[in-house]
Amino acid sequence: MKNRSNNSASTSLDRPGLLRVLRGIAGIGEVLDRPADLFAYESDGLTLMRGKPLAVVVPLDRNAVAETVRACNRASVPFLARGAGTGLSGGATPIDGGVLIECSQMNRILEIDPVNRTATVQPGLINAKLSEAVHELGLLYAPDPSSQTACTIGGNIAENSGGPHTLKYGTTSPHVLALEVVLPDGEVVSLGRRDGHQVGYDLRGVFVGSEGTLGIVTAATVRLVAIPKQVCTMLVAFDSLRAACEAVSMVIARGIVPAALELMDERTIKVVEDSVYAAGYPRDARAVLLVELDGDEAEVQADRVRIESIMHERAAIEVRVAKDAAEAAAFWRGRKGAFGAMGRLAPDLYVHDAVVPRTRLPEVVEEITRIAEEEGLLLANILHAGDGNLHPNICFDRRDPDEMERVRRVGDRILEICVNAGGVLSGEHGIGLEKRDHMHLMFSEEDLDPMRWVHDSFDPDDRCNPGKQIPTPRACTESNPRHRGYDKVEF
Ligand SMILES: Cc1cc2nc3c(=O)[nH]c(=O)nc-3n(C[C@H](O)[C@H](O)[C@H](O)COP(=O)(O)OP(=O)(O)OC[C@H]3O[C@@H](n4cnc5c(N)ncnc54)[C@H](O)[C@@H]3O)c2cc1C
Repeated sequence: MKNRSNNSASTSLDRPGLLRVLRGIAGIGEVLDRPADLFAYESDGLTLMRGKPLAVVVPLDRNAVAETVRACNRASVPFLARGAGTGLSGGATPIDGGVLIECSQMNRILEIDPVNRTATVQPGLINAKLSEAVHELGLLYAPDPSSQTACTIGGNIAENSGGPHTLKYGTTSPHVLALEVVLPDGEVVSLGRRDGHQVGYDLRGVFVGSEGTLGIVTAATVRLVAIPKQVCTMLVAFDSLRAACEAVSMVIARGIVPAALELMDERTIKVVEDSVYAAGYPRDARAVLLVELDGDEAEVQADRVRIESIMHERAAIEVRVAKDAAEAAAFWRGRKGAFGAMGRLAPDLYVHDAVVPRTRLPEVVEEITRIAEEEGLLLANILHAGDGNLHPNICFDRRDPDEMERVRRVGDRILEICVNAGGVLSGEHGIGLEKRDHMHLMFSEEDLDPMRWVHDSFDPDDRCNPGKQIPTPRACTESNPRHRGYDKVEF
């Protein structure tokens, strides 16, 4: 096997030398290194964790990415990719003194193949732009994170992102056929195949969800699906969150798989209705469930009747079927704007993300809500309920050190409760920096070792987004580079 290590003293660069080389690379739009310019890059959407990069480079093509990576290796400087920076687990938080490779200007659609229903795109393409571009062909790109008007395909691939329609269509991974990747030593390789006929080890699958630690995506071929002939969106109100969770389980138990089953609690409903995202949700409801069905007309109509009957069986206080696309869009506007609306509750928001078996949702949500109340914290719940994926959102003020400590405690407890209930640490936001040290709740050192072997065979020098996702063996915490460089990490 090729030794992928890049420690070569003969070609080494010091830091000023690195900046000079970066500025000389053809295909780099900008190199930023003034403190005022770097400030905006100190964190992703999880603003509690920060790092100070040496520089930010904005490549315009694959070769510029590869040259940047090679230059960083010559200087023994770590690097990481960033898309739109909407990540919520600190994945794109830069390591102190590292080079951040901002891919947002590599945002072109390279090819659309309507016959084979695929598109090949650059990593900085904004998710929603792809569906817009193929709409007139009757096609769409199914993975739809709620941040889809801002986040990029590269970030989605790195995080294996989900969204409201994951229940029926799956997360990002099954929609990714092939990747062009700059490896941590600067070599360019292809993983997977555009026709989907993967043979040998599924390295495409290994890469998707690797949180930017195995290399940098410079192009991706993704699947497109047909726009469904019929869509039916329903708003169902309940007078308890428990009843709503039970209704979700009953829908699946009866063999119906809606495109989406999204749940919001009382606090979320009120804050949405007070905000510019007001969607007409009933203010007196304790929970609102959005159900979306899609497919052929007969199938959608039959499922709609069955769902209405289940909702009444579970004592729904209102079942509203959107009469047209505008009303359906209004139902979704509230859900998709809910995180933004929470800015009305407190200056800071900690969007938590974990998964439990769907049937355990009622007790788990009640326990989490109780713990937050005991700690005097404001909590609002949004759930991709069909997937058992919870987003308990803690509203707080980071200027209050005591409140910060309580946020940290409740955050830790949420993960313990979910894992103890048979769940997992993240449904879609990834592990990043935020949950790296919680991996031990799910994995023994022996379980983690194969992940480290995979990592080290791609990145033996640990330069590509170090310190993310995989915890260091406990005994090596002090010395291991995976724990270096995030001096302002407060969690
Ligand atoms: C309001 C809001 C709603 C959200 N809703 C959802 C949701 O419904 N579902 C969901 O899954 N997430 C959601 N997120 C989280 C976030 O939007 C996703 O994780 C998204 O995929 C991040 O994309 P990005 O372009 O912003 O990536 P960034 O935040 O820039 O980076 C994320 C990770 O990807 C890596 N990366 C970026 N580009 C590349 C590349 N070219 N090659 C290799 N690695 C790369 C980075 O190093 C980092 O580790 C939400 C976030 C917000 C703020």
